[in-house]
Amino acid sequence: MNKNLFSFRRLTEMNQKCPNCNYNFFPENGFYWGAMFVSYGLASLEGLMVIFACFWYGNELFDYANLMIIVAFMIILFPFNFRLSRIIWLYIFGKKTR
Ligand SMILES: [Zn+2]
Repeated sequence: MNKNLFSFRRLTEMNQKCPNCNYNFFPENGFYWGAMFVSYGLASLEGLMVIFACFWYGNELFDYANLMIIVAFMIILFPFNFRLSRIIWLYIFGKKTR
């Protein structure tokens, strides 16, 4: 796994075009705004997994400690979610080449 996947450095940098096939990664202005919805979905699923993991380790299901743990996980996972949501958005709504 690429260690830069979880890095906050150069978070928003992306190639304009694919170096192999010259595919345009920016089909229109604001194309990646919709990736926020994908990111929201990813973060929700991760939050649910964390809260059930906390429950499994013996915390109450609704506990302020769980909330703090989820916030910590959201901060750690933010760069991963940011990049993965753009990839998913591009796969769903990017122009098909063939
Ligand atoms: Zn390519």
